[in-house]
Amino acid sequence: MKVVHLTTPETVELFDLPARRETGAGELLVEPLVVGISGTDALHYRRGAPLTDGFRHPHIPGTECVARVVGVDRGVHKKLLWQRVVLDPVSPCMKCEWCRDGQKTLCPHARTLGCPPVMGAMQQRFSWPSALCVPIPDDMPDELAVLATPLSLAAHFLEVARFPFMGSAAVVGCGHLGLLTIKVLRARGAGEIIAIDPIGYRRRAAVSMGADKAFDPIEAIDYARSSKSGGVHLAIDVSNASESSRTAVAVSRRGGQVLIGGIPLDNRVLFDAREARQKALTVNFTRRPHNTLARSLRLRQSPQMEGVEATITHLLSLEEVPDAFRMIRRMEEDVIKVVIQMPTYEPREESAQMITGRVSANGASEPIGQVAKG
Ligand SMILES: [Zn+2]
Repeated sequence: MKVVHLTTPETVELFDLPARRETGAGELLVEPLVVGISGTDALHYRRGAPLTDGFRHPHIPGTECVARVVGVDRGVHKKLLWQRVVLDPVSPCMKCEWCRDGQKTLCPHARTLGCPPVMGAMQQRFSWPSALCVPIPDDMPDELAVLATPLSLAAHFLEVARFPFMGSAAVVGCGHLGLLTIKVLRARGAGEIIAIDPIGYRRRAAVSMGADKAFDPIEAIDYARSSKSGGVHLAIDVSNASESSRTAVAVSRRGGQVLIGGIPLDNRVLFDAREARQKALTVNFTRRPHNTLARSLRLRQSPQMEGVEATITHLLSLEEVPDAFRMIRRMEEDVIKVVIQMPTYEPREESAQMITGRVSANGASEPIGQVAKG
């Protein structure tokens, strides 16, 4: 089967390796149909460690996946066989004090698809716990269903925040997650929404997703400070720049909230402590949600999410994954969201040795795809 490996920072290679044929207890064997390249994947491409504990090369990316179930454990969810499912990427332990208290997103033992030590979905076959495979409505295309995963994260931001009805909001960072956050804010009855990003095409995308105004960071601070309230009720930082939290604090009103939803590349969050203290801001960090995908699929189907598919700017093949990561890294072609269409798995492609001759006896493998260094 074809597998994508991040082999060194900013290097992506495509391998042909033996496919998995059996499931573990309580698991389903799945074949990915589409995989969305997430912000986490993009960070692993650029840095990996120290942003993610235990990150090692090679790593298989892919945290957002729609797949077809092709194998079931004995007695486990046979009705799911051949169904299309979206995979909940977070697998909590269900035993620790946080899991027992119903705070599964805080589980310190949670395993996450595409986050070490768990390999991601850019491989043609793997197994995943059956309880984390959520069936997709028949009339929902694969590439739209895969949006349920980032949409659940955007919706989770507003669950964490005590966001007042018709409150004002700012979204700092208008990548894919920022744009979905704007869409969810609008659906949840936000008043004025301002979008903040230094890049022009992202600001334009933010307005098309429902932001009332879009600014670069300096303009945004001027605008917020000159407003009647001196800022917004809620500022959500979904950028990967450490300075973006400074902007989030600066555009918040007194008594407002700042939600840090992004992962800064240099592992630091920087803001003016005096300003945050004088405004008595509430600052929250968030983790990826768990068990919200069924709700997220329903949200995806609601009329309020109309047009959200426009955030998928590129639908590419598995062979184009190296180009996709390079494009995201360089922000080329007005890229917002890249979704990879996985090829159909063909067992007969595998020889008697199950490999097309690219893995040596010691397990070292050679790429069959192009190498991207960018
Ligand atoms: Zn737990």
